Amino acid sequence: MHVDPDQSFPEIREAVRKLCSDFPGEYWRALDRERAYPSAFVAALTKAGFLSVLIPEAYGGSGLGVEAAAAVLEEIHRSGCNGGACHAQMYTMGTVLRHGSEAQKTAILPKIASGELRLQAFGVTEPTAGTDTTRIATFARRDGDAYRVNGQKIWISRAEHSDLMILLVRTTPREAARKPSDGMSVLLVDLREAVGRGLTIRPIRTMLNHASTELFFDDLEVPAANLIGEEGHGFRYILDGMNAERILIASECIGDGRFFIDRATAYARERSVFGRPIGENQGVQFPIARAHVQVEAARLMVERAARLFDEGRPCGSEANMAKMLASEASWYAADQCVQVHGGFGFAEEYDIERKFRETRLYQVAPISTNLILSHVATHVLGLPKSF
Ligand SMILES: Cc1cc2nc3c(=O)[nH]c(=O)nc-3n(C[C@H](O)[C@H](O)[C@H](O)COP(=O)(O)OP(=O)(O)OC[C@H]3O[C@@H](n4cnc5c(N)ncnc54)[C@H](O)[C@@H]3O)c2cc1C
Repeated sequence: MHVDPDQSFPEIREAVRKLCSDFPGEYWRALDRERAYPSAFVAALTKAGFLSVLIPEAYGGSGLGVEAAAAVLEEIHRSGCNGGACHAQMYTMGTVLRHGSEAQKTAILPKIASGELRLQAFGVTEPTAGTDTTRIATFARRDGDAYRVNGQKIWISRAEHSDLMILLVRTTPREAARKPSDGMSVLLVDLREAVGRGLTIRPIRTMLNHASTELFFDDLEVPAANLIGEEGHGFRYILDGMNAERILIASECIGDGRFFIDRATAYARERSVFGRPIGENQGVQFPIARAHVQVEAARLMVERAARLFDEGRPCGSEANMAKMLASEASWYAADQCVQVHGGFGFAEEYDIERKFRETRLYQVAPISTNLILSHVATHVLGLPKSF
């Protein structure tokens, strides 16, 4: 296994690897077959404090930055595990931390840090709006001390395994807003109270085990005290949180890429065909070496984006570029890993096919590659907008 000589947070990485060794391939395969949630794995990460690294010490977390959180997720993924079941517990709280009132922060952040409360559902995407978030139609109408929410969300991960959800809604119709991104607001929804009282959660079965759901709101009452920040400014609050999400997803891709390269290298050494290890053939070596080069290059961009984020500097473009490079590098590594394993790449017991399916997601979610290229073309290079 290649070990990076100047790897950040070596102690954290070592501790994460040790924890992950209790959750081997058999554990994930069994869950995958049943599309079941990895409760024991998430409980172990919570108990060890790895999901509260981004919460300031004043609220019970470890007060570390995105670079440390990235190290945790990278090692989870390099170990063959998957952080998708709980990575949002790390960063979703950022919307409350940066834009919530002191009362909201004091009420929930210490409980998120201890694991008593799970805030790992984040409801933005809608079936008809797609990536064009300004077209969301889920509407919250103010009614005395509450909002009444009606509408629909799709692809909301972990809603069945979360106590709270950050929800983006319209509070002013798009046509009546000063500009399309105005008039949206963020509500903190208590899912324990909402389900069955105006909120229905329906699971969606997908090619990977990701606890995806569809949400239906039928006059759901949410206390007005659960509004985060100011009404009408929600789009900006959500964008802020997306940078951390993209950097952390990119670090999972780096972990996946390294998993595939570790496995491909080991197999190429041990598998003998035509009387010699297949890894002696340059036709087998070069794709693995190329995958390593691509993952290492992507890693530099992930580190750069994480450092900018932790320094409080603008990092939107770097977070996007890191996510794109890392998701493409992990996908190339996945494809080559299957190829090196020949027929065994398709066998469940090798875990390659499972990780192959899992890493494919990241070129689509949380933001698809075309939208990143469009951001770079117009915001970084100043080319004319196409939409
Ligand atoms: C497993 C999974 C988990 C998810 N979890 C969550 C979650 O927890 N919360 C949440 O809010 N969302 C979640 N999502 C939604 C995810 O963020 C979106 O699927 C993603 O952003 C793409 O949006 P879309 O599916 O609406 O695609 P669309 O917007 O319909 O786009 C479809 C395709 O067209 C391309 N395209 C669209 N417009 C243009 C254009 N102008 N130029 C070039 N190409 C274009 C896109 O790049 C994409 O490839 C999840 C999705 C999945 C699959």
